[in-house]
Amino acid sequence: MAYRIYLSSPHMGGREMHYIEQAFAGNWIAPLGENVDAFEAETAARVGRAHGVAVSAGTHAIHLALKLLAVEAGDTVFCSALTFAGSCNAICYERARPVFIDCDETTWNMSPVALRAALRRAAAEGRLPRAVIIVDLYGQSADYDALIPLCREYGVPVIEDAAEALGAALRGRPCGSFGELAVLSFNGNKIITTSGGGMLLTGDSGQAAKARFWATQARDPAPWYEHTEIGYNYRLSNVLAGIGRGQLLCLEERLAQKKAIHARYAAGLRDVPAALMTAPAGFDSAYWLSVLRLELAATRARPADIIAALAERGIEARHVWKPMHMQPVFADAPFYPHAEEPDGTAARLFAAGLCLPSDTKMTAGEQQEVIDIIRACF
Ligand SMILES: *Cc1c(COP(=O)(O)O)cnc(C)c1O
Repeated sequence: MAYRIYLSSPHMGGREMHYIEQAFAGNWIAPLGENVDAFEAETAARVGRAHGVAVSAGTHAIHLALKLLAVEAGDTVFCSALTFAGSCNAICYERARPVFIDCDETTWNMSPVALRAALRRAAAEGRLPRAVIIVDLYGQSADYDALIPLCREYGVPVIEDAAEALGAALRGRPCGSFGELAVLSFNGNKIITTSGGGMLLTGDSGQAAKARFWATQARDPAPWYEHTEIGYNYRLSNVLAGIGRGQLLCLEERLAQKKAIHARYAAGLRDVPAALMTAPAGFDSAYWLSVLRLELAATRARPADIIAALAERGIEARHVWKPMHMQPVFADAPFYPHAEEPDGTAARLFAAGLCLPSDTKMTAGEQQEVIDIIRACF
């Protein structure tokens, strides 16, 4: 469906074509080249990591992170329950088993209470997970100050899924810098885009080299194509990395726009029976999407009603991610709730939440129209 106002659509800054033309001029129409090297270095520097490995999707970056942590068939991997399937599908690529961890209401991200319960049980059973994938949801950092010490206590490495949170920070530390490895996405709807793409971030040059090796078909150094391992064709094209370099130049402007969008919703919706997902003190959200949580007991309006009312006027809104432990494909996966509720806090946020149009090309006038339609639903 074509909308007049989108949730979050690609927004070019103007310099992208310059870098694409450079790739054409040098005939570097390949998954290697100057744009890839520069895009990796510039992105890694922005989040304070030593190394970035540009790949063709955030999902592929997660896959490589799991391989670097030696995830194998039969292992378990913990993952945030309230997220997009891209966070956890790669666990299954390696025939490992996902275990989903609930979120809490303050951060919407992984609950330290649920994580502690899951780690305790896993330790008692002698089956600690090989890794914990912690998501920074909708642009907001998870509470790493609570989560990382827990993982350290049990000796389990963390993968930060910062696909939605480039530009966010927790107490001054950028998202993408937490955990042993982190992942970004440059899919078309993300804060900046390469049309499709992702990046693996690490502080370890050996990990970066190994990830590049696997991502380019695991070609051993030899005069012919020699392989001792199974590889993948995961590298980002030098043309698309050119889009990424141009996009990085307008990242700060996009972040300011996302913040302004969130502030206008906060002002325009302050007196309806609903609350915007808002960064707690010390959290600096990228506000990739502005998310509204309805007070279901105080209104008859439901997320589906508001989504339908907006769609009728050509405006895109969406339900909050349906939690992974509620997905048919993961019906058999264990789930650890934050409190004693079968489907946890994540299920309640799913039932009450909707993602509002957060497109940086949306004008203040258009956003006022969105606000007016939402207000009329109550
Ligand atoms: C978009 C996204 C991914 C996957 O990224 P792709 O580039 O689309 O493969 C992973 N995790 C989260 C939380 C995402 O939003």
